[in-house]
Amino acid sequence: MASSERLLERTCEWCGKPVAYSGRGRPPRYCSPVHRRRAWELRTAQDRAERPVDDGGQSREPVREIVQHTVVLRDTTLIPPAPRPAERLSGQPYTLPEDAVEWIEALIALRREAVTNPKIAPFRDHIARACDKTAQALRGED
Ligand SMILES: [Zn+2]
Repeated sequence: MASSERLLERTCEWCGKPVAYSGRGRPPRYCSPVHRRRAWELRTAQDRAERPVDDGGQSREPVREIVQHTVVLRDTTLIPPAPRPAERLSGQPYTLPEDAVEWIEALIALRREAVTNPKIAPFRDHIARACDKTAQALRGED
């Protein structure tokens, strides 16, 4: 009894689909030139990756990172502008005297206004208390 085998079909090495074999020449390894090309690209990429690192190969070392950590303790954009002591009724900026002479002149003007200006009269007690606190502070009594 004699037996023989003949290849009829094999599967594509890329996609696994069956590829018929005619019986002539080398049996096909791929179902299409596209899959032959993809298999070749993968093989050559693997070969390149397996070379020594100095020869263009892929490192086996894990990726390491150096990270700079920056903490902004103070954001100058969040600092509000210097507060004004008050705003004029007209909405114009209100400025304080800039030196001792101006302060003394301003207090003289306040003293004069406090007795002559009818708009201030109803608030004399409030102004007097503020002046008392200021005088205490000036004398270091606060
Ligand atoms: Zn295929």
